[in-house]
Amino acid sequence: MSTSYDVINPATEQIVKNVPHLDLEQTDAIIAKAAKAFETWKNVTPGERARLLRAFSQVVTDHREELAQLEITNAGHTRGNALWEADNVANTLMYYSAAPERLFGKQIPVPGGIDITFKEPLGVVGIIVPWNFPMPIAGWGFAPALAAGNTVVLKPAEYTPLTAIRLGELALLAGIPEGVLNILPGKGSVVGNRFVTHPLVRKVGFTGSTEVGKQIMAGCADQVKRVTLELGGKSANIIFADADIEKAAAGAPGAVFDNAGQDCCARSRILVQKSAFDKFMEHFEVAVKKFRCEDPNLATAEMGPLISKKQFDVVESYLDEKIAFQGSAPSGPGYWMPPTVLLPKNAQAKSWREEIFGPVVSILTFEDEAEGIKMANDSEYGLSGSIWTRDVGKALRVSRAIESGALSVNSNSSVRFWTPFGGFKQSGLGRGLGPDAVDSYTELKNVFISND
Ligand code: NAD
Repeated sequence: MSTSYDVINPATEQIVKNVPHLDLEQTDAIIAKAAKAFETWKNVTPGERARLLRAFSQVVTDHREELAQLEITNAGHTRGNALWEADNVANTLMYYSAAPERLFGKQIPVPGGIDITFKEPLGVVGIIVPWNFPMPIAGWGFAPALAAGNTVVLKPAEYTPLTAIRLGELALLAGIPEGVLNILPGKGSVVGNRFVTHPLVRKVGFTGSTEVGKQIMAGCADQVKRVTLELGGKSANIIFADADIEKAAAGAPGAVFDNAGQDCCARSRILVQKSAFDKFMEHFEVAVKKFRCEDPNLATAEMGPLISKKQFDVVESYLDEKIAFQGSAPSGPGYWMPPTVLLPKNAQAKSWREEIFGPVVSILTFEDEAEGIKMANDSEYGLSGSIWTRDVGKALRVSRAIESGALSVNSNSSVRFWTPFGGFKQSGLGRGLGPDAVDSYTELKNVFISND
């Protein structure tokens, strides 16, 4: 039975909108519609598909203010982030609009004829999105999937469905045919799980927690369904004594507290070489205390509230370890948590090992390069991270040794649509983004044509 629920503004605790939870019957009807649309969409010429993706990109740009305002209100994102996120969807669409006309196969030399490979679309692709970056993560899924000739059913997270719903409407406005991009607000256990079990959904692209990702992978096994998993992280920010310590310390708050720490790439473990610890902490404390946690509508805001009371309670449960210092945050209403710096006892501490998904960072020291690498790799996750050093050889050695899908040297950059992104170990399976992402939304077909 279809029900509905209230979406809450996490900065004010006020109701923003009432949104439907689609039931199983409605979900199945939309999947059937997407399967029907696929029969037409897969035959749209590459040039026309490219043109439509560019038109969609332009419409998103034309609505960037509206989309950003929706995300500020729905997710508590800062104005700066929300505008970047809307632009990121437009830019990702533009980037993948080049793909339909470049889906090259190979001609393979064989005796007796000619052998050709084709990259065929899969059919209906199910994209499941978390609440932390609702717009870009939706775009990173649907843009390459549509470019490859698939149709998409997309389930936003329960907390943050509004921008995804609007993006679905904007796709129609841009001329993308009905049924090609479908947004299905609803529960993970109903709509999301149906993507896993429905035989017409040929792939699930999931971004979310490692716990749910494991269930999805197990569920997909039943039909040998294609699956990509973008999961949790506990990324290391490794600062060597020879680094520009002031620069590393100035950037470290943004690397973990951006989006109130609700970021799979948050550098929530800081490892500082022992000889540089005091200098780092002196500059880091100044930077943390300057970090602006305030009304996300303000142009100066660097961090807003947590998404929900539930998330607030989870994050608060980690604050029983030694607190080195905290920044400031507004008092309620809203789910406000100040940027917090912990000094755990050792690498077995809960805050050091678990993904907190809030504005909390833990700091430990290491003696030398070997110990720094060992400590950084001592995690079930391997998603992102930073290495700060002026020694090029060390930067290269450490980058190669760290078990992580994305690393930045002397920078906190993480996800960029031009480059592949995904996790080692329990941070995920497969890669999204970059020039090859479209391939993960295709099947490779081999055809031999005889000379005879
Ligand atoms: P979550 O796993 O609780 O939910 C993610 C999505 O899955 C939601 O849309 C949810 O409704 C749906 N879902 C829940 N149960 C389901 C089920 N049984 N079947 C199908 N779908 C189901 O995650 P969250 O709390 O929304 O997001 C936070 C997590 O996402 C963090 O662990 C974070 O690290 C991770 N994340 C990873 C990346 C990445 O690219 N690696 C990016 C952003 C967030």
